[in-house]
Amino acid sequence: MKHVIVIGGGVAGMQCASELLRQNIAVTIVEKQQCIGGKIRNWHKLFPSFTPADEVLAAMQQKLTTHNNLTIRTGCEATCITPQKVTLSSGEELRCDATVIATGFTLFDATVKEEYGYGIYDNVITSAELEQMFNEKNVHLKQGGEPKRIAILHCVGSRDEKVCQRHCSKVCCVTGVKQAIELKKMFPTADVFNFYMDMRMFGPGYEEMYREAQTSHNIHFVRGRISEVSPTFNNRLQIKAEDTLTGRPLKMGVDMLVLLVGMKANAHNTTLAKDCNLTLQPSGFMQPKDSFLGNVASNVEGVFYAGAITAPKNIGESINEGTAAARGVVEWLEKR
Ligand SMILES: Cc1cc2nc3c(=O)[nH]c(=O)nc-3n(C[C@H](O)[C@H](O)[C@H](O)COP(=O)(O)OP(=O)(O)OC[C@H]3O[C@@H](n4cnc5c(N)ncnc54)[C@H](O)[C@@H]3O)c2cc1C
Ligand code: SF4
Repeated sequence: MKHVIVIGGGVAGMQCASELLRQNIAVTIVEKQQCIGGKIRNWHKLFPSFTPADEVLAAMQQKLTTHNNLTIRTGCEATCITPQKVTLSSGEELRCDATVIATGFTLFDATVKEEYGYGIYDNVITSAELEQMFNEKNVHLKQGGEPKRIAILHCVGSRDEKVCQRHCSKVCCVTGVKQAIELKKMFPTADVFNFYMDMRMFGPGYEEMYREAQTSHNIHFVRGRISEVSPTFNNRLQIKAEDTLTGRPLKMGVDMLVLLVGMKANAHNTTLAKDCNLTLQPSGFMQPKDSFLGNVASNVEGVFYAGAITAPKNIGESINEGTAAARGVVEWLEKR
């Protein structure tokens, strides 16, 4: 029986593994965390349908539980990957017939953008932390109490030359709209402002959600970038921005600031590319063999990609790439 190693147990890796198992191929998932699931384990309700993330995760895990030909190695980090061998950080070597890299992305570290006060002032949080608060049903201010005015800032660590992250993270505009709606449902009298550079609502149902946010939830959208955040004597935050539609500077007091942190390429991609002869894009994401006819293949025969390892993607796209990568592997193994 053929054996494929899938590195990364996020949605892309899980989907790829379950498709390979269906094709009667033995699979080992190598996951560096203590359990599989990837980033979606931390999310609350998913755009665009508001489906609970744990429902999607449970359905994907269910597809994997019934298989005897599956080995899951958690707490194991892959350091070097070739078509026939994966080396773990422990030095252990695992043999296989092909490999799929589904190691996803890293969240941008908001402390790098000091001007937003993350890690310095209370009540400046990231979108990932807000997801966790939603999951714990405990959205609150550090000093206690409910936020009455909330600002959500787009493009934190994306489309930003200063922090060497030129790419658009693609999912944060819609995440900002989704989180604004969730906040309004939780705190109907609160004012929620989204500060954006451009609203990039590219997916099905996204534009409709954006409209609904304005018409049904009275969420405010301001075209402009916050330049500075400072604390006030009464535990609030003062933000300075420019409304780029009216050309006017703007000052506003808020109780909470949510930073929509971007999807950054894993730092490890650089060594992976060097040690395994894989091609890297200037953004730091891995370069697929061909954008049209080989977007789940790498430049190395027998090494495939799935999910956000090659670019920011939503969950649907990542799952679809898991399926496509499995198909690519099967075709490649048949040809050999
Ligand atoms: C704040 C936020 C909210 C989002 N909300 C939504 C939403 O509502 N709807 C939606 O469609 N999309 C959403 N997304 C996008 C979604 O998170 C991604 O599409 C999805 O996580 C990509 O899955 P993946 O499997 O490619 O990568 P990941 O989820 O990043 O999984 C990769 C896995 O690989 C593991 N790994 C990494 N390196 C190694 C290594 N060297 N060895 C072994 N294992 C390794 C990681 O531990 C991880 O488990 C959101 C993104 C953000 C930032
Ligand atoms: S999706 Fe929106 S918030 Fe995210 S980087 Fe692109 S423009 Fe900015």
